[in-house]
Amino acid sequence: MSIRNTPCALLLALLLTGCASSSARVLQRASEISHFAAGYTPTPGDDMAGPLAELTTRLEAWGVRVEDLPETPGRPMVGLASLEYRVVQIQRGLSVNARFEVLAHEAGHLLQPPGLQDRAVAQLFAELVGVGIGKFYGAKHCEEIAAIYLASFKYVFGAEPHLRRDITYAIEAMTGQRALPRWNQGSH
Ligand SMILES: [Zn+2]
Repeated sequence: MSIRNTPCALLLALLLTGCASSSARVLQRASEISHFAAGYTPTPGDDMAGPLAELTTRLEAWGVRVEDLPETPGRPMVGLASLEYRVVQIQRGLSVNARFEVLAHEAGHLLQPPGLQDRAVAQLFAELVGVGIGKFYGAKHCEEIAAIYLASFKYVFGAEPHLRRDITYAIEAMTGQRALPRWNQGSH
């Protein structure tokens, strides 16, 4: 390694450490929260308007429609992602910051490994991708929001190390640090 490369290598090491400890912090915090206190409380405010627009534009450029979720009485949902139909739907009426949180989570679902069948593990994957996207864009409460949400899925936390590389890939792709995969990749 030459001297010239050292600052980059150090920065990379710091970034990688930051990512790993963020997930570890979220899972540790979630472990301390009862399943019965778990859930999602949308963050009010609109300071994530820029990142929301950027993430929406990136998804649309990739061929994904971002639209309102149709009303589903009796089935409370804030977001839905379909890889098959290339669409993300978000509950209408949410704050800008909550729309960003939901979109970041749903973006994670769009890049979850195709063979991932377990619903709880899929939520773990999507939420940790969402946290990574939130951290990248400076969302202030993303770790706490994720910990409270993931408290329902503690029994699958053991899957996190196996998913770590794919989570990192998804975060990088959804934040413009690497190209998004082509649609036919991995979908066999
Ligand atoms: Zn989900």
